Amino acid sequence: MPDTRPSVEVSGAILEKLAVAAWDAREHAYVLGTTKVGCAVLAGDGRVFAGCNIEHHHRCHDVHAEVNAISSMVAAGDTRLLAVVVAAERERFTPCGGCLDWIFQFGGAGCVVAYGTARGRPLVRHTAGELMPYYPR
Ligand SMILES: [Zn+2]
Repeated sequence: MPDTRPSVEVSGAILEKLAVAAWDAREHAYVLGTTKVGCAVLAGDGRVFAGCNIEHHHRCHDVHAEVNAISSMVAAGDTRLLAVVVAAERERFTPCGGCLDWIFQFGGAGCVVAYGTARGRPLVRHTAGELMPYYPR
């Protein structure tokens, strides 16, 4: 069985801080459909970066909230991804396969990935490796 343990310990308090940032970013989601998504990531240096989904008329150009947040982290000079929190008012709304590609690239299988379905509701916590246990490494 592949190793799916977190690569670093990320406290519940830090995940809650990320959740607030993710729900705040979700307020700025630009959607043509109905699913607004926010995301916040914890960088290796402790900074938090947030993003929202931005949908485009040509849907192949849609920017997912996770990629938006990770892009901001990289643009600010950090490429070490420790944790990701996704905020959307949908059940089991984990990152899509494309976003998991980005999460694996910068955070590896041990990156903590959590999601919340409503502001203030408890987060569901996984690792990238748990969500995609047979991802090529
Ligand atoms: Zn995605």
